[in-house]
Amino acid sequence: MPATDDIITIDGSAGEGGGQILRTALGLSMVTGRAFRIEKIRARRPKPGLARQHLVAVSAAATICQAEVTGASLGSQELVFRPGRVCPGKYSFDIGTAGSTSLVIQTILPAILMVPGRWEIELIGGTHNPLAPPVDYLQKTFLPILKRMGAQVEVELLRPGFYPAGGGRVVLRGRGCETLRPVELLERGALRRRLAWAAVANLPPHIAQREVDTLCQLLGFAPAETAIRRWEAFGPGNVVAVELEFENITELFCNFGERGKPAEKVAEELAREVRRYLATEAPVGEHLADQILIPLALAGEGRFRTLSLSSHAQTNIEIINKFLYISCEVIPVGEDTYEVRLSREGSLQDPATC
Ligand code: ATP
Repeated sequence: MPATDDIITIDGSAGEGGGQILRTALGLSMVTGRAFRIEKIRARRPKPGLARQHLVAVSAAATICQAEVTGASLGSQELVFRPGRVCPGKYSFDIGTAGSTSLVIQTILPAILMVPGRWEIELIGGTHNPLAPPVDYLQKTFLPILKRMGAQVEVELLRPGFYPAGGGRVVLRGRGCETLRPVELLERGALRRRLAWAAVANLPPHIAQREVDTLCQLLGFAPAETAIRRWEAFGPGNVVAVELEFENITELFCNFGERGKPAEKVAEELAREVRRYLATEAPVGEHLADQILIPLALAGEGRFRTLSLSSHAQTNIEIINKFLYISCEVIPVGEDTYEVRLSREGSLQDPATC
């Protein structure tokens, strides 16, 4: 391992060139105690630099680990983050827009998993955003796997928040456990339950009904395998999801209603994603593949089978490698199916704690 006072330099335009690079760097900086400088933040996005949601991720990370930060302002494309002591406790962070609360959770999760103590974190913002994990995905897919790895962490949805009104509220509770157990996700196991559901807030319920009806036609779900939900939120919103609960994994796929896009089209797009997953035997879907890499690196090793790795996942591997020496083999094992074998050389640098 390089000396801890070496500052790591990260090119924010590498690979995917989006917000993931920053989040991964913040999370791993907190738990390794290693400082980093990131340049060209989100250079490959239409509006490069720090958006509100990224800024809150930076300030949440900085607050929790008493970091010294320079460059944390809206639109900034360069940032230096020097972590201090990680202090478990009760915190509240308000994104102030409909920016994703899940992506702030993704940022600080390594510290919550690895630093012993009681954690309670309230987040206010978007809870159901396109291009981010909805809270339901954290509850059904991601956190259950972390629990199998020995983590004690759960998320409660207190109020949904959609773009553009935001105002959603979630609470993350956890107890850091210092070590995580490696996990292998190689087979789905038998299908136990499946559910197609749609939720609307401040919109007519027929939207949700049409989405669910379309999913029944396209995926062969029976009415008993569906649900319509009416939510209270600050503004209008619509999410439709398919949950597939297998013996060894639950995958949740979702899509979001948009003004001007027919409900049937929203459901068709979702059905396409579900079919792609069902066409293979890989247990780990595209999004879980990029999100599980950090927990596996923290655990020291792990294996999983997934669809072809997204550029998100590949970029994540490169950034993890900047903080932890990992080796990650990606081996084709069938049509559109790959086995990812990750292992870490050396120990995790102990973070300074309160
Ligand atoms: P940028 O703001 O630069 O566009 P970002 O901060 O929005 O980037 P991305 O780099 O696009 O974030 O990363 C999005 C994260 O959300 C990834 O971890 C991805 O797996 C996850 N994600 C996106 N869509 C879903 C989904 N439908 N279900 C679960 N996770 C999702």
